[in-house]
Amino acid sequence: MGPITIPVFGSETLPAACETVIVGGGIIGVATAMFLAERGHDVVLLEKGHIAGEQSSRNWGWCRQARRDPREFDLIRESLRLWRGMNERVGGDTGFATCGTLFGARDEATSQRYAAWVGEAAQAGISAEMVTRDRVQALLTGDCAPPPTGLYCASDGRAEPQWAAPLMARHAQAKGAQIFTDCALRGIETAGGRIVSVVSERGTIACRNVVVAGGAWTRRILRDLDIHIPQLKVRASVSRTQPLPGGPDLCFWDKSLGVRKRRDGGYTLANGLLNTVPLTPDSFRFMRPYLAILAMDWRHLRLSMGHDFFSEWANAAPVPLDRPSPYEACRVLDPAPDLRFVRSTLALFRRRFPQLAGARLVQVWGGMIDAMPDTVPIISPVDGVGGLIVATGFSGHGFGIGPGAGHLVADMVTGAAPIVDPHSYRITRYFDGTMPRPYGGV
Ligand SMILES: Cc1cc2nc3c(=O)[nH]c(=O)nc-3n(C[C@H](O)[C@H](O)[C@H](O)COP(=O)(O)OP(=O)(O)OC[C@H]3O[C@@H](n4cnc5c(N)ncnc54)[C@H](O)[C@@H]3O)c2cc1C
Repeated sequence: MGPITIPVFGSETLPAACETVIVGGGIIGVATAMFLAERGHDVVLLEKGHIAGEQSSRNWGWCRQARRDPREFDLIRESLRLWRGMNERVGGDTGFATCGTLFGARDEATSQRYAAWVGEAAQAGISAEMVTRDRVQALLTGDCAPPPTGLYCASDGRAEPQWAAPLMARHAQAKGAQIFTDCALRGIETAGGRIVSVVSERGTIACRNVVVAGGAWTRRILRDLDIHIPQLKVRASVSRTQPLPGGPDLCFWDKSLGVRKRRDGGYTLANGLLNTVPLTPDSFRFMRPYLAILAMDWRHLRLSMGHDFFSEWANAAPVPLDRPSPYEACRVLDPAPDLRFVRSTLALFRRRFPQLAGARLVQVWGGMIDAMPDTVPIISPVDGVGGLIVATGFSGHGFGIGPGAGHLVADMVTGAAPIVDPHSYRITRYFDGTMPRPYGGV
């Protein structure tokens, strides 16, 4: 079972019409609903399971600038500004705290790459620094094998994934958004080259705009509109410990270890590098755009062939909209964690922090990351389908930029001046040969 989220109780009666339908109640869909509702926009959000049931409650909870692709600099800067005011905005505790992040470097090449990133970030107004052993030691309280140098970003933060999106959703409801949980979108209907309605399992809603923020399901939703984005899934494994006094308070990453102090006093732990890639028919279809990232990262990806291949293959065909969709058959995508990664991570954490050797795991879970080949999201209208906006492919780092991304989508829907330049997030880069290489700078 996945992490327990703050409950959000959905509305009962589906409206016959609204201005905008959002598909997906993860942080991206919820943040969009929140900013639209605050502007008095008539918005409905459909979530097939519960709010933040998938990636948005299963992530590590880092809200980081450090090591980010420069194409996301503006968006993360705006997002952190929004995070800092989030508790006040939603009238609740999202767990956000400015705690700093530290990326350890154990070899000269990594240290040099981090130093180059610090320089690039400084030009964009993001302040970070390289720190050496004494400072690293002071930041990583009790670490008996600290890295000799590291990239430290004091203004980075963390929030509690099981609290943040649900509280934003409750705030959106208070501002007038209608949220429907256990209510899957089955399909999107168009006429004359623009959106006219959506069909959900509870009925049809006429609308002018649809925002598809379906996380790992977005590829399938768009395929029914003959839009083929090269999105794949990556399975990540996470665990958490009981409350443990006396360890480091910041978020830190050191290749084989990703650690975050939780508000409950425990730690969220993960292997910093190893993830599992379930092979599916799309893995072969999209092999080409992923070659650059595979060349960079192949050592850390474990390929798995099994259930996912056959279930995706079986669910690929379009389903008539008056019949149950594959989305209804999987209310919450709850992949099994890889226990080998979980065990080795706990053992390493105990070795590195002898004062926390009594750490034990109180929960483990898996999460399915929605990946794009250049590891930058799509936040974009779609040529030829008026009223359609896609917000997906956050490639394992969409929690931190969720507030900014939601604001940007709301700007696109309402025609407001965009909070940041959206050019890097255009969907067309996958179709017109302008997709940049993945950022290999760090
Ligand atoms: C293990 C792990 C660690 C991570 N760590 C971090 C981190 O530390 N920092 C960070 O910034 N990011 C992190 N991420 C990434 C981050 O969690 C995601 O990028 C972000 O949550 C994506 O939000 P989303 O709203 O796009 O997708 P999701 O949260 O996956 O939400 C999509 C929603 O759409 C719904 N949906 C899909 N299809 C339909 C349909 N047909 N009808 C109705 N609803 C539908 C789904 O049920 C789901 O709830 C991590 C991710 C994982 C898995």
